Amino acid sequence: MPNHKNPLSENKNRSAQTCLVHGGTQRSQFGETSEAIFMNSGFTYESSEAAEERFKGNSPGHIYSRFTNPSVEMFQDRMKLLEGAEAARATATGMAAVTTAMMAQVRAGDHVVASRALFGGCRFVIEDYMPRWGVKTTLVDGRDPQNFASAMQKNTKAIFIETPTNPTLELVDIKAVAEIAHANNAVLVVDNVFATPIWQKPLQLGADLVVYSATKHIDGQGRALGGIILGSKELIEGDIHTIIRQTGPSISPFNAWVMVKGLETLDLRVREMTRSAAKLAAFLSSHEKVERVFYPGDKSHPQYDLAQSQMSGGSNMVAMEIKGGKAASFKCADGLSIFLISNNLGDAKSIISHPATTTHQRLTEDVRDELGIKDNLLRLSVGLESADDLIADLAFGLDQI
Ligand SMILES: *Cc1c(COP(=O)(O)O)cnc(C)c1O
Repeated sequence: MPNHKNPLSENKNRSAQTCLVHGGTQRSQFGETSEAIFMNSGFTYESSEAAEERFKGNSPGHIYSRFTNPSVEMFQDRMKLLEGAEAARATATGMAAVTTAMMAQVRAGDHVVASRALFGGCRFVIEDYMPRWGVKTTLVDGRDPQNFASAMQKNTKAIFIETPTNPTLELVDIKAVAEIAHANNAVLVVDNVFATPIWQKPLQLGADLVVYSATKHIDGQGRALGGIILGSKELIEGDIHTIIRQTGPSISPFNAWVMVKGLETLDLRVREMTRSAAKLAAFLSSHEKVERVFYPGDKSHPQYDLAQSQMSGGSNMVAMEIKGGKAASFKCADGLSIFLISNNLGDAKSIISHPATTTHQRLTEDVRDELGIKDNLLRLSVGLESADDLIADLAFGLDQI
């Protein structure tokens, strides 16, 4: 008999490290150690009657990989254990997760409040896309929870936040905003990409849904796109499931398998990258060509107390303003030999980006000013290389200015 043992499919008392290695594993009749890839679109039934029963929901089993597949289920179940969520649905990309999570909360005539400092795609969905479907939106400065309270209307159905924000690493008080949402019967959706599930647990802080771009730290090796939405059974198995089933923003089983394998090392990777990020932040803070460093794990962060209360680690993301403008920023980035110039993040490879001319160039100059995205701002995603080598690389880059 094959070994179908999987002690972790339901047990929530194991530590995150153990869940990340074993959680959600389903073994086939061959008893393989590493999770198999179920690279199939459909499933067969023993009889017409069995098909009828499965479609009616009277018997368990898969129907079609647009909405259920064993590899996708393994990814969802492993993430559920990590996040402490009742239910999860994986999607093709982080943007598919954000769009699905938000569209499931609203219909024409409703209203949404969001923090204004958002990942570019998220801001587009909230600011440009939702109004096309008759949903009004209000963007607020997320640093003060009172701004959310002031923006709430009778028809506000959801609040969307990201914390820490991209690229200036501002924080939003998840607990306070959850209370404001719930006082108005609205749902709080948190994009937890920058913090990662290792350092921040939005559901425990009162959020209703948490969304990830799995493309970032969860894969963590720059191979595949993916996303996931986690929350209560009620929210996930309702409209969110229906939207995925009927409109198809579904993840490929292959990509879900890549994410399952990525999760096995997530805790190790995020801890190591964070350790290095703290060292880099300290080095940059004392560098004469650096004007200002933004790092939630450093006492100089204007919301350090909030970071300490809602995050258990400072993250692998660091931003800095250097002395000089765009030309100096380009000189510094172009002088680096380990850091790659890219807009991705959470990768094993360290990455540097100039948000004003790349990820945030679509915004007007006024909006960039409002968000604090200056021409001398550089964003770093610290990877798994030696911290000493990364510091030497940055020292060289800054010397080129
Ligand atoms: C990358 C990212 C997304 C979008 O994810 P994709 O997988 O690229 O679609 C959403 N939010 C944040 C904070 C991100 O960094």
